Amino acid sequence: MVAECRANAQLLKRVAEIYNWLDLQISNNSSLAGQCKICGECCDFDSPAPASEQGFDHRLFVTTPELMYLAANLGAENIKPMPTGRCPYNVGGKCTVYEYRFAGCRIFYCKADADFQSRLSELVLAKLKSICTEFQIPYRYTDLAAALNGFVG
Ligand code: SF4
Ligand code: SF4
Repeated sequence: MVAECRANAQLLKRVAEIYNWLDLQISNNSSLAGQCKICGECCDFDSPAPASEQGFDHRLFVTTPELMYLAANLGAENIKPMPTGRCPYNVGGKCTVYEYRFAGCRIFYCKADADFQSRLSELVLAKLKSICTEFQIPYRYTDLAAALNGFVG
């Protein structure tokens, strides 16, 4: 039991380190990463792109360690289902779990360099996958709605 708790704490620490690394890549490459005016529109995955934008036909996929990290920080009982296309953590246009948001949320800016985003996604997914191997947990890369709706705490 104690060993299990230690392993879980280590796993969560690893996820936090990956998010810190990711945030640093984004802040060090701001011209490629783009800018966000925090309108929250991209958190509604059924929303048509704003007329002012080129369009973002995107989905958000999340990995097992990221869900574990969110659940550990919010409390498993606070993992919300997602009955519509809008992420349930977006309230009034703002992310209410900003500190614990997923890698895809950190990477996606609607006016970013697509190659930069794609390279960063690959790198961060490899890191998240390696956590699964290290801690011997199944690696899943799941659409946000399916991940939240299927979450078993
Ligand atoms: S990335 Fe774009 S659409 Fe998403 S919140 Fe920022 S400005 Fe709005
Ligand atoms: S976790 Fe936050 S940033 Fe990510 S989709 Fe949900 S509301 Fe948007």
